[in-house]
Amino acid sequence: MAYLHQFFDKNLLKLPVGKVICVGRNYAAHAKELNHCVPSEPILFLKPTNALIAFDEPIQASSFEHALHYELEIAVLLNSELKNANKETAIAAIAGIGLSLDLTFRDLQDKLKQKGHPWEKSKAFDNSCPTSRFVKYLDLDLEDLSLVLKINNEIRQSGNSADMLVDIASLLAYSSKYFTLNPGDIVITGTPAGVGVLKPGDKLEAHLSNILSVNTTVI
Ligand code: ZN
Repeated sequence: MAYLHQFFDKNLLKLPVGKVICVGRNYAAHAKELNHCVPSEPILFLKPTNALIAFDEPIQASSFEHALHYELEIAVLLNSELKNANKETAIAAIAGIGLSLDLTFRDLQDKLKQKGHPWEKSKAFDNSCPTSRFVKYLDLDLEDLSLVLKINNEIRQSGNSADMLVDIASLLAYSSKYFTLNPGDIVITGTPAGVGVLKPGDKLEAHLSNILSVNTTVI
């Protein structure tokens, strides 16, 4: 069985590579920048295991025929099964917190949405989810985690989990009503405003509060 070795601190248990559950429009300012209304319930979609790569592996934008957009998101790694969980059991299942990019072919996603088609081709393609190592979750305040993305030294995205429409524990509980969450699954929790296109040569630097920093480049 494959393991996410590169994603882990040494003292975290090794877990199988799971699926990625993603949440759309979880920050009001981001919904607004894409001209969407704020959803009344979480919008969920999935990425398969082949979407996962290490955050610091170069992003191969030039190999795609679509405009590749970045979305920086707080990622939550689970270490036990959740089904119909409540907030407390959801929190107890968290192994670690990290950062992911929800890479998106925005032009393709817009076309698919217009036609009322599923948007997986624009969101769930191979390597569409660069993910950092995870910091062990002990007493981190889930409702006060900041995330910052700089591209070429300029701040493009800056947010805080306090501004989420649905908080992290509630997202896990809600997701587990529809999908059994297994050890090794990752939930990425939506992106703050400031999304945009990636170009070859871009240098990305991402920070999660003062607990984690990661870099990558676009080629
Ligand atoms: Zn996203």
